[in-house]
Amino acid sequence: MFILRLQTNKMKKHNFNSGPSILPQEVLEQAAKAVLDFNGTGLSLLEIGHRTPWFVDVLEEAKSLVKELMQLDDNYDVLFLHGGATTQFMQVPMNLLDSGETAAYCDNGVWGSKAIKEASLFGNVNVVASSKDKKYTYLEKDFIVPADSKYLHLTSNNTVEGTQWHSFPRTNVPIVADMSSDIFSREMDFKEFAAIYAGAQKNMGAAGVNLLVIRKDILGKVQRKLPAIMDYRNHIEAGSLLNTPPVFAIYVALLTLRWIKKEGGLKEMERRANEKSSLLYSTIDSLLLFNCPIVKEDRSKMNAVFFIEDEALQNKFLDECKAHGMIGVKGYRTVGGIRVSMYNALPLESVQAFCDLATSFNNAHIHQLEQMSA
Ligand SMILES: *Cc1c(COP(=O)(O)O)cnc(C)c1O
Repeated sequence: MFILRLQTNKMKKHNFNSGPSILPQEVLEQAAKAVLDFNGTGLSLLEIGHRTPWFVDVLEEAKSLVKELMQLDDNYDVLFLHGGATTQFMQVPMNLLDSGETAAYCDNGVWGSKAIKEASLFGNVNVVASSKDKKYTYLEKDFIVPADSKYLHLTSNNTVEGTQWHSFPRTNVPIVADMSSDIFSREMDFKEFAAIYAGAQKNMGAAGVNLLVIRKDILGKVQRKLPAIMDYRNHIEAGSLLNTPPVFAIYVALLTLRWIKKEGGLKEMERRANEKSSLLYSTIDSLLLFNCPIVKEDRSKMNAVFFIEDEALQNKFLDECKAHGMIGVKGYRTVGGIRVSMYNALPLESVQAFCDLATSFNNAHIHQLEQMSA
């Protein structure tokens, strides 16, 4: 009964939330079942010990699926940590950057800036690239990473601003990437990175867990004493069981990873992202009322950010979205405008519904725009 209700309520909505965001319906159903009875054990997932073989199996399967999808070998370890991506802004420099040493950072938006602020508490930060001068509407790609940088940090997809790296800088310096909002959305050579982290609540599950993939040879090089819970090496040694891990969020991540694999892996996720984002951007670009300020080659396939210049009209459009069951399309508070997030689980039909609404709104109001400019 309860599962049925979840389903029928959902059918009416188009969930464009930026995070926490849409998850596959079958993942929600399986997660709901596991809360009531985990794999026929007669116990809830929330009631079993994290060191039981039941949960250790969950962890091991999740880790091996991450490695399989990313095609990583045993030089890398996979951790599931508390604290979200924001904790990694601090934990990365704490583990990798000694005081007096320098790390290179790209400043391409809200999240990258926060990472820079945290890193500067631990060592020197060299901002090697920034697109702040043009309100983060592009990615600066022509920059030099000094060879003595401990690492280069970048945000693979700028969730708030709507830009995304479609190829990555070539450098011998280890690259650390915040992939919170485009993890598992495309094929890439993950071995280009020394560390990858992602909060789960955008493309891989529920809030409360953070994925960290790390090449083990970059660890153990700083002199500072680390609190035990902050030291990546302790988590590796304990197999993500240093203390009680976020069991529910890890289980939802496992269900999502299984779903990604079953649907055809990263190749298929990428095909869907291409299909959805091309439809969205080509529609927006064809409508006079809407303006996407992001440089075409840097546009995000996960989060499209655009505007209706006239604020009253924009608010009217946002109201119409609401009336049509379209959730989460209002832009980030500091950016404004409209943001359509198209994560893995978002069906093409939702993007189509949005495009249909945008087109009819455009056609109904375009004469107003012409009058205003006359
Ligand atoms: C959402 C987001 C974060 C913050 O994640 P939390 O899990 O809330 O700490 C960091 N980086 C990026 C790119 C994000 O999209």
